[in-house]
Amino acid sequence: MSVVVQKYGGSSVGTTEKIKKIAQSIIKRKDKDTDLVIVVSAMGDTTDDLLSLSKGIGEEPDKRELDALLSTGEIISSALLAMAIKGLGYDAISYTAYQIGIKTSGQYGKALIEDIHGNKIKKSLKEGKIVIVAGFQGINGEGDITTLGRGGSDTTAVALAVKLDGRCEIYTDVSGIYSVDPRAYSEAKKLDEIEYEEMLELASLGAQIMHSRSIELAQKYGIPIYVGLSDSDIKGTVIKEVKNVNMESKPVTGIATNDDDVAVTLKNIPKDVNILSTIFEAIGSKRVNIDMISQSSPVDGMVSVSFTIPKESLKDSLKIIEKLTGDNKVIVDEDITKFSMVGLGMKTTSGVAARMFKVFSANDIEIKMITTSEIRITCAIKTSDKLKAIKIVANEFNL
Ligand code: ASP
Ligand code: MG
Repeated sequence: MSVVVQKYGGSSVGTTEKIKKIAQSIIKRKDKDTDLVIVVSAMGDTTDDLLSLSKGIGEEPDKRELDALLSTGEIISSALLAMAIKGLGYDAISYTAYQIGIKTSGQYGKALIEDIHGNKIKKSLKEGKIVIVAGFQGINGEGDITTLGRGGSDTTAVALAVKLDGRCEIYTDVSGIYSVDPRAYSEAKKLDEIEYEEMLELASLGAQIMHSRSIELAQKYGIPIYVGLSDSDIKGTVIKEVKNVNMESKPVTGIATNDDDVAVTLKNIPKDVNILSTIFEAIGSKRVNIDMISQSSPVDGMVSVSFTIPKESLKDSLKIIEKLTGDNKVIVDEDITKFSMVGLGMKTTSGVAARMFKVFSANDIEIKMITTSEIRITCAIKTSDKLKAIKIVANEFNL
């Protein structure tokens, strides 16, 4: 019998009415040759509400206890959904991570799934039950509750699909994956399919659609993920390995933007790799993620070096940098949006960057920094240019 793992996000289970509605579509889906495992997120803004509750106790809550607290949101929604399904005359059972042995390693708040003990789920499925699993949570080696990081229920769902050799369907309040965020560009096109690699780039770069680790996991095990609206005739998007696409015809698949970084420039420092490595090491030791880096050509042995870091890490990083360089050498630019174009077709098509630079320059969009990978070009631009940049690049590449 084939197993389908479905995941419902927080907005889909936001009220008891919505939970009852989902229960209806779940039982419609349950037929004699499909076993259903349902992963749920916490209702609506529950996780945020729990977080602010903890802030009421203190600014920096104990990490073990915070995970214990945050995991409760998904337990509520899974139990309610099981009740709703039973209320419709179908058999269902809800499970927490502890009950089905979702083993994790790593830190509280961003634990990694090591394995899932699948026997209990398999037994319940054999008994004809619809299995409901609380997403986002696990149990570490000490037997403590852990959480997988914000949005982590996607990863729970994919991990279960891997373990049960099933298919994975993610239901959200958007009808699929778009080439560009439709809130920023209303003419954005929905994609029928997207390659893992592209989706992973878009998710990591700021397209807030899915937990990026869920895509990594799906790619590793070759599990296709369907993303779309539940109980709807509107077709969503399949994230999968796309073979033999005519890459040349479409070099760019999507755009992602991110306003969460600032640029720091160190002016007139000696051209000396040791100085840079000391600075970057010191910042890195505070777990600050340095992203784009650029360096000017040396003049009299001196260079300027710019790099981006998350806004939230600015204060701490400045303290470290100024200690090493002196504060007269540091310039902070907070007006930064990272604008990224992603597409597997870039591997085989040349001139993609040139086309982007051309439309940027024709529209007076200043590029402050650039980084590239095989399938991505990222520019730091002014945040006020963001919407214009999205529009002209979407137009240029027919997104
Ligand atoms: N409820 C958690 C969050 O809001 C996990 C999830 O939604 O997947 O981040
Ligand atoms: Mg949520």
